[in-house]
Amino acid sequence: MQNPPSRYRPATLLVHGGIERSPYGETSEALFLTSGFVYGSAEEAAATFAGTLERYQYSRFGNPTVTMLEKRLALLEGAEACRVTASGMAAVHAALFAHLKAGDRVVASRALFGACHWIVSTLLPRFGIATEFVDGTKLEQWQAALAQPAALVLLESPSNPMLEIIDINAVAKWAHAAGAILVVDNVFATPLLQRPLALGADVVVYSCTKHIDGQGRVLGGAVLGSQAWINETLHPYLRNTGPTLSPFNAWLLLKGVETLPQRLAAAQQSAARIADFLAERAEVARVWYPFRADHPQSALARAQMSGGGTLVSFELHGGKEAAFQFMNNLRLIAISNNLGDAKSLITHPATTTHMKIGSEERARLGIGDGVVRLSVGLEDTEDLISDLAEALASIRHASHDKRL
Ligand SMILES: *Cc1c(COP(=O)(O)O)cnc(C)c1O
Repeated sequence: MQNPPSRYRPATLLVHGGIERSPYGETSEALFLTSGFVYGSAEEAAATFAGTLERYQYSRFGNPTVTMLEKRLALLEGAEACRVTASGMAAVHAALFAHLKAGDRVVASRALFGACHWIVSTLLPRFGIATEFVDGTKLEQWQAALAQPAALVLLESPSNPMLEIIDINAVAKWAHAAGAILVVDNVFATPLLQRPLALGADVVVYSCTKHIDGQGRVLGGAVLGSQAWINETLHPYLRNTGPTLSPFNAWLLLKGVETLPQRLAAAQQSAARIADFLAERAEVARVWYPFRADHPQSALARAQMSGGGTLVSFELHGGKEAAFQFMNNLRLIAISNNLGDAKSLITHPATTTHMKIGSEERARLGIGDGVVRLSVGLEDTEDLISDLAEALASIRHASHDKRL
């Protein structure tokens, strides 16, 4: 269902966008926890299946609570249409498999979320689709790879976990010249900090599990693009393969997005301060935060994003041993591979999220054994900084003890 462009700003759209009230006039979005829908007559059922009557049929195809979320996310993104899925990976998988066929060629940035990397490196080739990875920050590699025809280009910016920034506008031009659509995984930036469609992308995918829920409760995914592509390419694939988001999870996500601007602003403000704090510490070899002046692509980040986001990656002196010691000594910040939660979470990518890609690929991506990724949540910034400071000091003591 296509949305008219809205005159409202994002915070308003996130509270009111897409709402469809039942005859009871409820204030909050209604939860239609139903798998099917009944028809008033056999004729009505027949007309629905013949396509002459548009109405809900079965929740694998569509559900009013799910539709409200799709409309809201489309309004926020400024996209013509949206479909939501049971997880972020279901969204990425559907966007790729709905569009591609045997004999096609895909070009992707190497710095992808682990499961996205697996789909491109391992799953697509099984179906006769050629794939090629490039270093996403090197424009000449994109240009060379896209000098040959391609069907689809996939990139993530900022990337997980090294927060690399890719020039979406430049890649979009080469992708289109090669005959490809550009799909952008916009999870780290969120729809509020970066608008890939306005930068030339054709399709945007999200894991709603992250900032969109933002409270660590449910999995969800979203795919956004033109009405024609969603209707003709994506919708038949989703309808017939069934990676459907449950209406209950859609309802939680509808309530989650209401507070996205406020949560994001608070966490981002803390993240920027924490990045500056970490950069001053002797235990920290290097900090990556897109809006810090020492980020290798800070100018590009500032040009295509309106904020640095809520993730900070940093490398500790002392490799894995120091990283583990530091993480084990955090008391407030929890160890978890998730991100975008109200609770601050830390992970050691080399032994968790990026373990399976192997040490050679990790080295290519700069994911050292001392690198940790911090997802900043909604706790008081001073409490987070104290927790980090105490855990950092505990590493110093350990290496000091060893020297004695
Ligand atoms: C989490 C994540 C995904 C996958 O989403 P799920 O909801 O876990 O399936 C894809 N891309 C990025 C960048 C992510 O952070």
